[in-house]
Amino acid sequence: MKALLLKNGRILDPATGDLADADIRVEGGKIAAMGSVLPRSGSEVIDLGGRLVLPGLIDLHVHLREPGFEWKETIATGTRAAARGGFTTVACMPNTRPVADSPEVIRRIRETADREGSVRVLPIGAITRGERGRELTDMAALKEAGAVAVSDDGVGVHDSRVMRDAMRMAASLGLPLVAHCEDDSLAAGGSVHDGDFAARHGLKGIPGEAESVHVARDILLAEATGVHYHVCHISDANSVRLVREAKRRGLKVTAEVTPHHLLLCEEDIPGPDPDYKMNPPLRSRRDRAALIEGLKDGTIDVIATDHAPHTPEEKGVGMDRAPFGIVGLETAFPLLYTHLVLTGELSLGRLADLLTRRPARLFGLPWGGLTVGSDADLTVIDLEEERIIDPEAFLSKGRNTPFAGWRVKGWPVLTLVAGRAVWDGLGLEPR
Ligand SMILES: [Zn+2]
Repeated sequence: MKALLLKNGRILDPATGDLADADIRVEGGKIAAMGSVLPRSGSEVIDLGGRLVLPGLIDLHVHLREPGFEWKETIATGTRAAARGGFTTVACMPNTRPVADSPEVIRRIRETADREGSVRVLPIGAITRGERGRELTDMAALKEAGAVAVSDDGVGVHDSRVMRDAMRMAASLGLPLVAHCEDDSLAAGGSVHDGDFAARHGLKGIPGEAESVHVARDILLAEATGVHYHVCHISDANSVRLVREAKRRGLKVTAEVTPHHLLLCEEDIPGPDPDYKMNPPLRSRRDRAALIEGLKDGTIDVIATDHAPHTPEEKGVGMDRAPFGIVGLETAFPLLYTHLVLTGELSLGRLADLLTRRPARLFGLPWGGLTVGSDADLTVIDLEEERIIDPEAFLSKGRNTPFAGWRVKGWPVLTLVAGRAVWDGLGLEPR
């Protein structure tokens, strides 16, 4: 691969939020030099024209649907969507078919990603066999095969003893335990938040406590076991408070939030539209405010999309019967930039940190920064580019988004993984 010179970038350091005008030279997949006016000699040149350069974005929670649900998404299409959204690394959840509860499935995902994927794919292994909540998986073997964490995402682990044993095992292996917090006895049959929208439309609601009672239990078990406990897609104000208290007490408890829970609440649901059906559901205005507050004060560690593609046929069966989930990879950055940074809620540096350096540190990954010698995983963003979100243009197979028609700024225009362009929206194919 020929050396690549990215000229005239505005480089953001997520550790400090500092911006610096500089060129970046890429050689052999690594950042070989960064500085002002680097020589062009012997390299392909791309003029970034002052556009923003970030470390490649990292999403710790996506559903690539392969193996088993290839009609919804494949590793190939999901990672192309990731690349277009500026992501260079994604961690994929194990609720595939078969469930990623064995080293064979973990290896198969990694091999397919190596062969057909556009970005780095880090499989997450299941906590229990078949995600059935009873028997623990062989976590040591999952780790050996390449799993970066364990999770039964999609369902809560209901049996407290199973959860405690899982935490002990994950702690002994140094694997983060990534928890989908949902108590079925409170949530079952619900399709939206247990609030005004549910009441108005005669739908069964899922109360916030369905999440927070698991968070509360799990924090006590995490304290007893010393595991790194990570709360998936936190949505409820009480859950945020519990994580804040756990952090204050020095526990290794972390949490993620999705763009949709940050930008929408139940009041924004226009009617019984399954593209607004996700798990956990869009909650109250008060919950949404608590999530933003949690992001600002550091209680919530990272933003993750929970990209969850389904077909229009699957979604088109009414609010109560449609599957949960929306896609998110291709719209996350512009939505967050437009509705949190341009509105003054978060600084650009903080948003970048939540999508790069912090997720890398959470899972102990070597990416998420831009330094000489590191892998050339980087994302170029055009902060001025303003476009309307058009699901028909997605590279994901999924079209299920509540953000169709939103006009947003700050689109990723170039994504490099180890120096290789995996998304080129500038038409600047290296020359
Ligand atoms: Zn998920």
